[in-house]
Amino acid sequence: MARKYLIETYGCQMNAHDSERMAGLLEQAGYEATSDAADAEVVVINTCSVREHAEDKLYTRLGELRVLAQEGGHNPIVVVAGCVAQQEGGSLLKRSPGVADVIVGTQAIKRLPMLVERAMATRRPAIDLDPFEDVTFPLGITRRSDPVKAYVTIIEGCNEFCSFCVVPYTRGNERMRPKADILADARDAAASGRKELQLLGQIVNHYEAPDDPSCDFTALVEAIHEIDGIERIRFSSPHPRHFSRAFLEAMQRLPKICRHLHLPAQSGSSQILQAMRRRYSRESYLELVHTIRELLPDVALSTDIIVGFPGETDADFEDTLSLTREAQFHSMFSFKYSQRPNTLADKRMPDDVPESVKTRRIVELQALQHTIQSAINARTVGQTVQVMVDAASRRLDTELSGRTSQNVVVNLPGSADWIGRTVPVRIERAGPHSIWGQVSLTDAPTEPTLQNAGN
Ligand code: SF4
Repeated sequence: MARKYLIETYGCQMNAHDSERMAGLLEQAGYEATSDAADAEVVVINTCSVREHAEDKLYTRLGELRVLAQEGGHNPIVVVAGCVAQQEGGSLLKRSPGVADVIVGTQAIKRLPMLVERAMATRRPAIDLDPFEDVTFPLGITRRSDPVKAYVTIIEGCNEFCSFCVVPYTRGNERMRPKADILADARDAAASGRKELQLLGQIVNHYEAPDDPSCDFTALVEAIHEIDGIERIRFSSPHPRHFSRAFLEAMQRLPKICRHLHLPAQSGSSQILQAMRRRYSRESYLELVHTIRELLPDVALSTDIIVGFPGETDADFEDTLSLTREAQFHSMFSFKYSQRPNTLADKRMPDDVPESVKTRRIVELQALQHTIQSAINARTVGQTVQVMVDAASRRLDTELSGRTSQNVVVNLPGSADWIGRTVPVRIERAGPHSIWGQVSLTDAPTEPTLQNAGN
């Protein structure tokens, strides 16, 4: 009987994709997936350290696995992977002796099966935190978890060193994946029936192909746009300071590029942006927003905001509120600042905004954003939008969900065999986080059109 593995993933899309890669590597080594830790010989916890809260989840889960071992007598090989593994390394074992058998850093995941075998044979911890320049990944190994969408990494690591961010320390310096490797991966995803590609990198729009000096991010997306079978292209995340007009003009002429841009602002105050080392100002960010609105009026914007960064005054926070009003984001991820190890802010800037003030600010910001996105979504009622159906809704067996090109979640009645199709949906009802509608047969002349409708 095949040995079983379980991978639990916290954090971002990059981590989700690393888990797909680790799953493929373990399956190549003869393991089978299970969803039950009590049934697994190998349990991988793929961790996130971007927020303190995410890191705490690892220690909670390691404690639960220890209880499983003590009370149930089941003692799997426990692997800690991801950003906390890279950040903490062997000190994880000092903090909680015996809780992990393998610690694999973010750049060493290709060595996972070998490290697991070594830990099994020796019953001693195996640790690999080494940096690897090589960001190629063998074709056909990744076990893609979504039948409709595929992640494709284009850049790993980051050289920006924003003062609040752990990524340059946990994912290493910026390394570009060769264009040939990316295109092969994208074609492989299309051949396996995936309709939507999500290009991944810390700063996707900084891409320069190491194997083709003439290929920047715009040229890469143009090349991917040519691949038959791919209907939609998304990417996360671009950096506001690396946007080029050439890319926005490419978006005008390339219909497969989704009408959604994630533009992490982080703050609306130029003073705080400078302390964050973001290297753009409030003014230049808003200028970019206005250029996008002018060239691409149907594009939805989303953003990330941190409140309570060291030194943030009420006036700075007011600037964040006014930027939010002006930019009219479709959605926002907002966080209270927490100190992250090794970062410039951790070393040099006291965490001086009281917790109660951070809480008050985030509540106010989220209330404002709630009002803005409720109004944006309400304007879709009565419109017909193209929806790529990607899943059965979590709430109802008979309900499907999908996304518009603008990345708005749409719920609609229908059967599971619609998953993967793009269908016209007439919107009947809107909430702040998603909208509801019915497939509109008047907007879809024949059933076969439903299968092929573009976005
Ligand atoms: S650009 Fe800044 S926030 Fe984004 S990953 Fe790099 S260091 Fe972190």
